[in-house]
Amino acid sequence: MTYLKKMLTNSIKILFGDVRSSIVSIIVLSALGSGSIFLSVKKLWRETLAAIQSPTPLWVTIALVLALLVYIYLKTRTRPQNPPELKPKYHTIDEIKWEYFFNDDNSFHVNETPLCAKHNLPMFKCDAGYDCHERPVDHCNSLFPTKDYQNLYNKALSHIYRKINFPE
Ligand SMILES: [Zn+2]
Repeated sequence: MTYLKKMLTNSIKILFGDVRSSIVSIIVLSALGSGSIFLSVKKLWRETLAAIQSPTPLWVTIALVLALLVYIYLKTRTRPQNPPELKPKYHTIDEIKWEYFFNDDNSFHVNETPLCAKHNLPMFKCDAGYDCHERPVDHCNSLFPTKDYQNLYNKALSHIYRKINFPE
C-alpha cells in the first residue's frame, strides 16, 4: 500500500507540476488512506464519461480515471477472501482417532466425536458406549464404554497439547 501511494504521488507530481496536483493527490490519497471506499464504481464511471465528453480540463479527467483505477485496485485487493479452509489434523490413541483443528490464535480444539482409526469413520453412541458402524462386518477394537469417554477425550487433549507444544 505504501508503495502504491508513493508511486501514485510520484506519477501525479510528474503529470501535474502545479497546484492542481495537490487537489488530485488529496482525492486519490483520501480514497487510499481512509481504507473505506466512499465512491461507487458506477458513479465514478458516469463522472469519468461525462468528464471525457465535456470540455472539462484534462486534469479532472485524469484524476477521475486515476480514482477509478485506485478504486478497482482496492476493491480487488480488499475483496474478502474465503476463510482458509479448516484443515483437520488427527491424533490416534489405541484404536481411537481424534480430529483436531487449530484456531486463529493457534490454540486448538478437539472434535468431540471420535473416529474409528481402522475404518476412519465417526463413531456413534449406543447402549454399549461408543461404537463403529463397520465393527459388526469388519472387526475393529474401537468400541469403548461411555464412562470412559471423558478420560479418553482428556487423554487426547493432553496428547495433542504435548504434540503441538513439545514436538519431538
Ligand atoms: Zn471401525
